[in-house]
Amino acid sequence: MTILEKQINLIAQNKTEFDKGQELILKSSEFDFNETFEILKNYIFNSIPNKSDYNSDSYQKAIVSIPIKQTFTPIIILNKFSTKNAFKKLSELSESEYEKIIISLLWIFKITDTERRETECKNGCGHYWHNIT
Ligand SMILES: [Zn+2]
Repeated sequence: MTILEKQINLIAQNKTEFDKGQELILKSSEFDFNETFEILKNYIFNSIPNKSDYNSDSYQKAIVSIPIKQTFTPIIILNKFSTKNAFKKLSELSESEYEKIIISLLWIFKITDTERRETECKNGCGHYWHNIT
């Protein structure tokens, strides 16, 4: 697991406080939008049980609770389009949206992964990233 992957999972598991964690990732001198976006996209898709359209109650709840303004472009896109289309559109936004996109995706993963840990993984799981400290 890379340092970035570990940082993301620690945020998702509430072992790093959200605001502090997102800042750590975004302010890192090694921050790479495409790399971070791809990791988060894969993590989110993996954490959603429904593999036909990658939608779930927790995914929808996550979008409406993202801790930045709901009128920001990335959130409008997440609300308006199906999951796969939304992620494609997010990947094409300009650099000025990068921070808002990463904050949004970190938040979504925190919610959808928490849901997974409390259901599917509740009685133990073989996901090594769910057993980090
Ligand atoms: Zn697990």
